Amino acid sequence: MASTRIGKQAVVIGAGMGGLTAAGALADRFDRVVVLERDNLPSEPAHRAGTPQARHVHGLLLSGQRALNELFPGFEQDLVRAGAVLLRVGLDVRVERPGYDPFPQRDLGWFGYAVSRPTIEHAVRQRVESFANITLRPRCRVREISGTPNGESVTGVRYENGNGAGETIGADLVVDASGRGTLTLDLLRSLGRPLPEETTIGIDLGYATSVYSVPDDAPTDWKGVMTFGQAPQNSRGGLMLPLEGNRWMVTIGGRHGDVPPGDEEGFLAYAKALRTPTIYNAISHAKRMDDVARYGFPESVRRHFERLDSFPRGLLPIGDAICRFNPVYGQGMSVAALEASLLQRLLERFENDGDPIAGLAPTFFAEMQALIETPWSVAMLDFAFPDTRGQRPADFEATLKFGIALTQLAAEDPAVHKLTLEVQHLLKPRSAYRDPALMQRVLARMAEARPVPAPG
Ligand SMILES: Cc1cc2nc3c(=O)[nH]c(=O)nc-3n(C[C@H](O)[C@H](O)[C@H](O)COP(=O)(O)OP(=O)(O)OC[C@H]3O[C@@H](n4cnc5c(N)ncnc54)[C@H](O)[C@@H]3O)c2cc1C
Repeated sequence: MASTRIGKQAVVIGAGMGGLTAAGALADRFDRVVVLERDNLPSEPAHRAGTPQARHVHGLLLSGQRALNELFPGFEQDLVRAGAVLLRVGLDVRVERPGYDPFPQRDLGWFGYAVSRPTIEHAVRQRVESFANITLRPRCRVREISGTPNGESVTGVRYENGNGAGETIGADLVVDASGRGTLTLDLLRSLGRPLPEETTIGIDLGYATSVYSVPDDAPTDWKGVMTFGQAPQNSRGGLMLPLEGNRWMVTIGGRHGDVPPGDEEGFLAYAKALRTPTIYNAISHAKRMDDVARYGFPESVRRHFERLDSFPRGLLPIGDAICRFNPVYGQGMSVAALEASLLQRLLERFENDGDPIAGLAPTFFAEMQALIETPWSVAMLDFAFPDTRGQRPADFEATLKFGIALTQLAAEDPAVHKLTLEVQHLLKPRSAYRDPALMQRVLARMAEARPVPAPG
C-alpha cells in the first residue's frame, strides 16, 4: 500500500549517520527530501573534514545493524560486499578486563560486522542516493534555520553553496543532523525561547588511532581485542578491530590527561603500557599503514528537549545533536539509526492526523527517552573514575557492585553472558537485569562479597 505523503519537502542538515538514516525514514512521506552537507561527499569510502571521528574505530552494535537493515533492506549484504569482516559476537573479539584475561569467549549465535566508519557511511549514502526523491547536496553549509516571524514554525534554512553564494530552501520539516546541533540552539536563542537543559558527564577522553596491515602470522584465536584498565587507578584501554582490506584498526586511549601521543613511537609506547600485552604484541611487528590520528572528547552530553514546554513546529534535531555518548561504548551510530527508525514509525502513526508535523517533535522527544535510557546509563559508568565531572548518582556504589556480581555470573553462565551482550548491543533495555530470578542470583553473589576486581 502506498504511504500517505505528509509534506512536500523535508530538508536534512548533515549527511552523517543521523542525517542519512533520517533521510531514508522520511523518503516515503515527503515528495522530496534534500540533504545539505557542508563537505564534498567522496564517491568512494574516504575520510572527510566534517566527520573527524571517522578515523577511529567505529563498532556497529547489533541494534544499529538491525535498524539499518530495516531502513535499507539488504544493508548487511552491502557491508559484506564492501569487505566487512564477519564477527561472531561473544567469540571473535578477545575481551580483557581485570580478573578475566580473557573473558570467556562463546559463540552466542549472532554475527556482527567490523568495517571502517567511512565504508559504513558510504554504504548508507549509496542506499540513500538510490531513492528517486532524495537529493544529496554536498558543499552546502547551512548557516541558519529560518522560521515564521512569530517563531511558531520553521520554514526552511539559509545555506551557503559551494561557490560561497547564499541560498534559501523552504521545508515543511527541517531535521538537524549536524552533529553539534548548534543551528537548533541558535534558532531557539534568536526566538528568545529557552534552551534545553543539558546533563553532562566530563570524561576528558583522549583517543589515538593507527591502522596496520594484518601480518601473516596474526593470532588465530581472535579477530579483535578489547582491553580495559583497572578502574579507578588505570583509565587506559585499547580496542583493535579488523577492517576491510585485511587491516587492523587500533584505537588506544585514556582519561584526564593520561592520553596517548600522536607520534608512532609514543603510540607504541602507550600501547605497550596497556594493562595487557595482547595489542602491543600484535602490532609491534605489523606494518603501519597510516599516520596516528588523535581525538579529544571532553564530555558526554544529553540535551533534554523532552523537558521544553514547546518547540518550533517543523524542526527535529536527531543523533548527536540530541545526545553524544562516550565513544568507548560504541553507541552513537546505532542510536542515530534507532532514532531514524522511531521517526519512521511516528510518521506512519501520524499520517492521517490533520497536522502530522505539529505533534512530531514532542512525541519524538518523549519516546526517544526509552531509546537513550540504556546507552546513557552505560555512559554513567564513567563515574567509576573519580575525576569524572557531573552528577554522580547517589546509588553509584551499589551499581558498581551489581555490575561486578553480574559480570561474575556472565563469565560462568552463557545465558547471563548473552543477556549482558543483548543490553550492551541495545537489543534489550538495562531493566532486563531486574528480572526477579536474575536479581536473586546477583544479590546472592553480592552478599558473598567475594574479592573481585572493579570493572574497567
Ligand atoms: C572518537 C569517536 C569514536 C566513535 N566511535 C563510535 C563507535 O565505535 N560506534 C558508534 O556507533 N559511534 C561511535 N562514535 C559516535 C558516532 O560517530 C556519532 O554518534 C554518529 O556519527 C552521530 O551521527 P550524526 O549524524 O549525529 O553526526 P555525524 O555523523 O558527525 O554527522 C554530522 C554531519 O553534519 C555535517 N554538518 C555539520 N554542520 C553542518 C552545516 N552547518 N551544514 C551542513 N552540514 C553540516 C557534518 O559535516 C557531518 O557530515 C564515535 C565518536 C567519536 C568522536
